[in-house]
Amino acid sequence: MSFIEAENIWKSYGKGEAKTVVLKGINLKIEEGEFVAIIGPSGCGKSTLLNILGLLDTPDKGNLYINNKKTTRMSENERARFRRKISGFIFQQFYLINSLTALENVELPMMLEGYSKNYRKRRAKQLLESVDLGDRLYYYPYQLSGGQQQRVAIARALANNPKIIFADEPTGNLDSKRSQQIMDILKNLHDEGITIVMVTHELEYTKYATKIVKMKDGMIVDILG
Ligand code: ADP
Ligand code: ADP
Repeated sequence: MSFIEAENIWKSYGKGEAKTVVLKGINLKIEEGEFVAIIGPSGCGKSTLLNILGLLDTPDKGNLYINNKKTTRMSENERARFRRKISGFIFQQFYLINSLTALENVELPMMLEGYSKNYRKRRAKQLLESVDLGDRLYYYPYQLSGGQQQRVAIARALANNPKIIFADEPTGNLDSKRSQQIMDILKNLHDEGITIVMVTHELEYTKYATKIVKMKDGMIVDILG
């Protein structure tokens, strides 16, 4: 079995007249160590699919297996625990906590897992150094540029040693120089063996992908690679 297997995933939002069917029978397999880029026009269901693959959302119908576990049969709690254990997330909007320093933002996921203060601080520092923010540990998000904030978010995503990183338009709010820095980091993480699943509308960055999934109108219309 593949690392991730999505079988006939359906998802809609709303009810009655307002009902929109967003995913229409998605089948997708992702192997460990792949770098998957999900592309397609705005509104075609990319983020919805990413959220379902990342266990942030649940399908109405279909099965999702991750690491040989049938996630669609888990309770909400089990799913949340499983998600925290194996995945990290990066979003276009960064979603850092503004009242916490860069260091504290990175410590947070480790706190939820119950690691000691000492360990948390040491690891958060190392992670921030690895994304070139060793001199910004005590800065708050609003004191950092967009590129710097996204690098804090990457350090946070790595805190609990994820097997897989889900990235939703990670460069969507950044200029091309900062975008390239983020893509270089994602490429390095992939080279280190982390599986990456990224939604992007920047076709330039699909060159880092080992598999390109093209979506249209809630369906996968092509898989390259
Ligand atoms: P993409 O990432 O390809 O732009 P999305 O997955 O974000 O597409 O959205 C697909 C469709 O689902 C859009 O029409 C969007 O408006 C709708 N949608 C997404 N999330 C919700 C939601 N929480 N409630 C209602 N409609 C939603
Ligand atoms: P980005 O991540 O957006 O590319 P950089 O890290 O390249 O930002 O920062 C650009 C320059 O601005 C660097 O020399 C950096 O040290 C400086 N800089 C960024 N943020 C601040 C800040 N809050 N205070 C002082 N200098 C800053």
